[in-house]
This record gives sequence, structure tokens and C-alpha cells, in this order.
Amino acid sequence: LASRDFKKTDTVIQVDDLQIGGKKVHVAAGPCAVENRVTLLDIAEKVKASGASFLRGGAFKPRTSPYSFQGLGIEGLNYLKEAKEKTGLPIISEIMDPRDIDVMIDYVDILQIGTRNMQNFKLLMEVGSVDKPVLLKRGMSATIKELLMAAEYILSRGNEKVILCERGIRTFETATRNTLDLSAVPLLKSLSHLPVAVDPSHGVGKRDLVTPMAVAAVAAGADMLLIEVHTNPEEALSDGEQSLTPEQFKEMMKKVKAVAEAV
Ligand code: PEP
Ligand code: MN
Repeated sequence: LASRDFKKTDTVIQVDDLQIGGKKVHVAAGPCAVENRVTLLDIAEKVKASGASFLRGGAFKPRTSPYSFQGLGIEGLNYLKEAKEKTGLPIISEIMDPRDIDVMIDYVDILQIGTRNMQNFKLLMEVGSVDKPVLLKRGMSATIKELLMAAEYILSRGNEKVILCERGIRTFETATRNTLDLSAVPLLKSLSHLPVAVDPSHGVGKRDLVTPMAVAAVAAGADMLLIEVHTNPEEALSDGEQSLTPEQFKEMMKKVKAVAEAV
């Protein structure tokens, strides 16, 4: 169902008045985690002013350590909802547990499946059974084929609104957090009709490398970018090292726009 052989034309996913997979490149920006109301609203206003068209932010966080900040849960979803009311930006947020689907569906516009859950088949089937777009992140050790089969789990349950997302894979290289596989973009676009997103923030893990990789992702044909932005990255409760400041995000957006117009 995900393949070009099955469907020749590009899938375009409508969210509010926006089309993902159409001509325009969309940028989803925001903090790694929703930390508190004031910071989230501040970040939302700033990324919106620079041209972001979605707000990202985790309320349920998949942390490596159980002692790290796990997210605000429903309280965080409420702040995301308020941020949408204030800015108009549709919301992308991660779902970790099939039991959260009923509550999340009322708060978010796109359900994100994180890299650690790409092969959580129960979760995939659950998001496949609802009418809500899903951003499916590539597992950090998953092949392209495995990513497409994970998408198949969602599509085969009836949900046709799947966005594939490259977010970096594990290699022998330790200089960057992951190795961002940008060849995945044209490859996925040729194998599948689904829109393709790139998350350079998790792909590289280092602030200074995010903008060059964001620009490269657009040049490679990405339909969407996911960018972590924080007003005070030094104090961020997660992923501060890879978060752009709002000023850096503004500069990134200028370059992204220039490249998007050129390709
Ligand atoms: C995130 O987007 O904040 C996140 C946890 O991403 P990933 O699943 O790609 O690590
Ligand atoms: Mn993060």
C-alpha cells in the first residue's frame, strides 16, 4: 500500500488548511519537550513569526533513563492546545502508548511515532485505526524496507495519512549523535507515494550542524522538516545541545526558503 506501484501519484495530506506532500515545504518547529506553559507559548509565537507552519513538542517523552524528565503528559497537551489557539499552528506530538490514543486524538493534529517505537506493532495498528495523520519516524537501526513495512501496518488498518520521517540512524560514527541518511529522501520518494519528512535535529544532535542539514534535506526533496527550537537551550530539560535559538531558527528559515524556491 505504501509503494509507488500501488499508487502512482503523490499522497497529499491535508491538515487544517495546509497540504503536506504538495508543492510547499512545511517546517514543524518547537521544543523537544513541553516544559511549561510560558516557555511553550513563547517558543510557539517565535517560530510562527519566522514562518514555521506546525508546532512540535513532546508531552510524553521516551527517555533513555527512567530518571530523566518524562514529559508533562496531559498537562503538556493542554499547553499545546492553548498554543494552537494563540498561534493557529497545528500540533505534532508523540504517542508512546496505545492507551493514550483516545485522549491524544482531541489535542494533536499529527500523531508522531518515535524512532524507538517504529516496530511497536500494537501501537502502529492502533494509530492505523484512527482518522488522524501519523508521522512515522525511522527506527534508529531500521532499514528503509523495515520503515516501509512499519508504514504498511498503519496503512493496512485503513489510515492512509502517513508521513515517513528520516531522523538519523546508528552507525560507527560517534562525532554526531546519529548519521543523517539523506539518501533516504529521494529513495523513499521513488519507492513510495507518501510524503517524506526529515528531522536534522535528532539526526546530528549538534546545533551548529542543524541548519546545513535542514537545507540539504530540502535540496534532496523533503516535504517537511522537524526542527527543535528552545528559547534557552542551555536550560532545556531535553535535547538542548541540538536545539536552535529562535534567532538561529529565523536564519535557518531564510536559507530553507531560498533552497525550497530553487528546487
Ligand atoms: C523527538 O522528536 O523529540 C524524539 C524523541 O524523536 P526520536 O524518536 O526521533 O528520537
Ligand atoms: Mn528531542
